[in-house]
Amino acid sequence: MAAFENFKQQVNAAAKLAGLTEKEQTALEKPDRVLRADLEVVLDSGSKATFPAYRIQFNNARGPYKGGIRFHPEADEDEVSALAAMMMVKCAVVGIPFGGAKGGVTVDPKKLSVRERQALARAYVQAFSDHLGPDQDIPAPDVYTNPSVMAHMLDEYEIITGKSQPAMITGKPIALGGSLGRDTATADGAIAVLEALLEDERVDVAGLTAAVQGAGNAGAQAARRLAHLGTKVVALSDSSGTLQDESGLDVAALLEGKAQKKEFSAVGKVDAVDAVLSANADLFVPAALEEQLRIDTVDALRARYVLEIANGPTTPEADALLATRGVTVVPDVLANAGGVAVSYFEWVQGRTGDYWKKEVVEARLSEIMRKAYREVADFARERTVTLRAAAYALALKRVAEAMRERGRL
Ligand code: GLU
Repeated sequence: MAAFENFKQQVNAAAKLAGLTEKEQTALEKPDRVLRADLEVVLDSGSKATFPAYRIQFNNARGPYKGGIRFHPEADEDEVSALAAMMMVKCAVVGIPFGGAKGGVTVDPKKLSVRERQALARAYVQAFSDHLGPDQDIPAPDVYTNPSVMAHMLDEYEIITGKSQPAMITGKPIALGGSLGRDTATADGAIAVLEALLEDERVDVAGLTAAVQGAGNAGAQAARRLAHLGTKVVALSDSSGTLQDESGLDVAALLEGKAQKKEFSAVGKVDAVDAVLSANADLFVPAALEEQLRIDTVDALRARYVLEIANGPTTPEADALLATRGVTVVPDVLANAGGVAVSYFEWVQGRTGDYWKKEVVEARLSEIMRKAYREVADFARERTVTLRAAAYALALKRVAEAMRERGRL
């Protein structure tokens, strides 16, 4: 099903819980602005290539638009709209003063050279600079973009505007005003929520087994953190296959191997990419792309807990099935909000010029994530609904309140 349709289903399911009128619900389902451009890049060969690009600004009632930019062959308007909407929800769930946005370029960045990727990053900012800025819309990394892409985007923006504006983008390199702890924030935030949940359930994290899907920035860090906490990571996958060991993988060594050889299939014996889904593990951590847990794949899942580090890894139909099976799903809009929470810290630091110690970032991240978990879990318990329905309901309430205060509703 189309990604934006999935979002609307979530809103529909949460609207009553949030006490929204039909008019309010409709207002929360509409992006404010859909920006589209064709980015032209001169390739190393000398020929020109054009890549479709999007920036979708969803709702700025609670603060400036905020959200990452992905470079991916399947990025399109539908997907970017859904992800922008989820940013609105996410920022409201963790109570940071931002609205929602997302960007995307339809491109396979693995096929670009370093120079071509830089040219693409600059072309993106040239296309959308009028709509970006620390008080307007603040981009960040997402799938297949990284601090280096953010650095080129910042540089281009400052050339265009003629002034230093470190708060116009987050996830920057430390040398350009990036925040300590931003690189590990998504996974660290997810683990903070998982720990709070397991404390509620009186389950020892060290007694669990885990399967982690995806070994990008967030997946790799989550696997490392879990291994560090004593959880046995029995399966770990990337786009080349799944590494498995019932007695626990040596996560640090395997990730080191991937850093050198690029793919797990070059590091050890791998099973199918999807094998990670059916691994015999208590906890499943999707940290790759959307729609991994679907009606046709969800039966294979053996986990009791799902910690959604990816955006949108579970379809609404699979989600409903998991709920009836008693599987606890920590939804993306809560589980992966640590990334944007530390982006918020980075934005504050860029605006004030006061840069924080790593311990300060870590302590404030943990505080924000635990508070958000507590609010969502309490709401879910009181109303006997899933954590996802509770997170959406709380977030929609907050956005609707801001819109009402502004006289927009
Ligand atoms: N791309 C990340 C997300 O989906 C981070 C967004 C941000 O830091 O603005 O949450």
